Amino acid sequence: MELNTSFIENIRLNESDNSIEVNKYLQTEINDIYAAGDVANFPYAPMGESTRIEHWRLAAQQGRIGAINMLHKYHNKGKSRSVVTVDNIVPFFSSGLYDL
Ligand SMILES: Cc1cc2nc3c(=O)[nH]c(=O)nc-3n(C[C@H](O)[C@H](O)[C@H](O)COP(=O)(O)OP(=O)(O)OC[C@H]3O[C@@H](n4cnc5c(N)ncnc54)[C@H](O)[C@@H]3O)c2cc1C
Repeated sequence: MELNTSFIENIRLNESDNSIEVNKYLQTEINDIYAAGDVANFPYAPMGESTRIEHWRLAAQQGRIGAINMLHKYHNKGKSRSVVTVDNIVPFFSSGLYDL
């Protein structure tokens, strides 16, 4: 799928697919900006490299991780680091197969 990230400024995009590079907390290179889901190129520990996964369940998992990290920073007045990482999530997906 082609990513619609051309409107983004001041964040470097991945040259091959225009995705957004994030760290394991889902922070972009601008630490107060997070990305999750299809657009996020995240460090996937089992592969030892960054990747994207275009599936509904992973977008929801990452949305929760990003939200928790943003709220944690807010409650600690921006002083503490993010707390939840993508390291422990196991991506899985379901999909339509024939009529099922
Ligand atoms: C045809 C098709 C079939 C699929 N089937 C499956 C399946 O069976 N199982 C599965 O797990 N996954 C499936 N997927 C993948 C799944 O839909 C995506 O992985 C998931 O929707 C990603 O969620 P997201 O929130 O990252 O992005 P999206 O769901 O794409 O949400 C991004 C939102 O941002 C909005 N947006 C874009 N640009 C801007 C802008 N400039 N300003 C404001 N808003 C903007 C878009 O309109 C959109 O609403 C399928 C995808 C497609 C296209």
